[in-house]
Amino acid sequence: MRYFIKTFGCQQNTADSEKIAAFLASKGMTPSEDYKHADYVVINTCMIRQSAENRAYGLIINLKKIKTSRKKRLKIIVTGCLAGLAHKDRSGKILASLMERFPEVDEFVPIEEVGIGETPVRQDQSNALVPISSGCNNYCSYCVVPYTRGKEISRPYNDIIGECRKLRQKGYKRITLLGQNVNSYGADIRKSKTKKPIYVKHLGKLRIPTLFPHLLHEISQMGFDMVDFLSSNPWDFSKELIEVIANNKNISRTIHLPVQSGDNTVLKKMNRWYTKGQYLKLVKQLKLRIENLKLTTDIIVGFPGETEKQFQNTVELCREVDFEKAYISLYSPRPLTASTRLMKDDIPYSVKKRRWQILENLINKAHL
Ligand code: SAH
Ligand code: SF4
Repeated sequence: MRYFIKTFGCQQNTADSEKIAAFLASKGMTPSEDYKHADYVVINTCMIRQSAENRAYGLIINLKKIKTSRKKRLKIIVTGCLAGLAHKDRSGKILASLMERFPEVDEFVPIEEVGIGETPVRQDQSNALVPISSGCNNYCSYCVVPYTRGKEISRPYNDIIGECRKLRQKGYKRITLLGQNVNSYGADIRKSKTKKPIYVKHLGKLRIPTLFPHLLHEISQMGFDMVDFLSSNPWDFSKELIEVIANNKNISRTIHLPVQSGDNTVLKKMNRWYTKGQYLKLVKQLKLRIENLKLTTDIIVGFPGETEKQFQNTVELCREVDFEKAYISLYSPRPLTASTRLMKDDIPYSVKKRRWQILENLINKAHL
């Protein structure tokens, strides 16, 4: 049996696919160069925007043609965020409608059931991806991740340390720690260990101090040339974390710090918990302590109700921060999210596209 895995979306999905590959290899399967020659195709899906979802549907349709034209059996497995959402939806309606729409798919399997515990078959021999947590509890109003990946769970500290040590022994020089909120790592571990966890106020919100600074420090001492991490959120970017980065030169100086919007009203509607001023203050602290710092970010344009003035506040923030790179998305309503349930997707596509182009020119074209 020959398998092919198609991965859509973020590096977390890439890391998951590396475990799926290990699982399939353990069943005696061998990799196929492309899906056309495979007997077993796994589609690791992304749901972050409608466009990502559509790409997975396109592939299923192509596979359907192969399946019907071929005599040999072809198994199609769908996993990742689409399957996650379908299985987490208690009404069962999402799964039922997917099964009806795509009868050629043999199974919709939640990612937790594929290859967990396997030693990943790593694609990249120089930079190893190491997931340290999964899921998300933040419920930004536009985001489907809490519904596809479930609540935030941190991997046991010693498991991560053990995996990183092994990677170093194997000769890996670069490592990337992954989590939807990588710097929230360990807040759940701390919470479960005590009845009354200590909270500290950071960016206007009470937070449990995370274990991420300790973990990052320990990993940075293992002799890697470069230790990278993504994606971090502003509210768990503590002074302690800034100090760990400042004091360990092998921690990446390119930091991904998604801002989403530079307007306080939009941020509030997004449930992003910080203000433009608080984000800028954090950036100032980072620039002050970390030499040669480069910041990258995520921005959403055309969030429901976003006025021209509110968009200009985002432009202003971008000018002030001088991001090295930005992943700019056109707002896309996602199933089950608060913004889909409560707000109208009222910004026309042409306006979203124009705003996207303005930021693209300002940030990404300027840094080519
Ligand atoms: N956990 C990370 C990002 C995860 S999703 C964080 O909080 O920063 C990656 C990016 O996709 C987000 O940062 C956001 O910019 C974009 N995104 C998420 N949901 C979206 C939606 N409904 N429409 C458009 N972009 C979206
Ligand atoms: Fe979680 Fe918000 Fe990031 Fe989505 S955008 S993964 S809800 S923190």
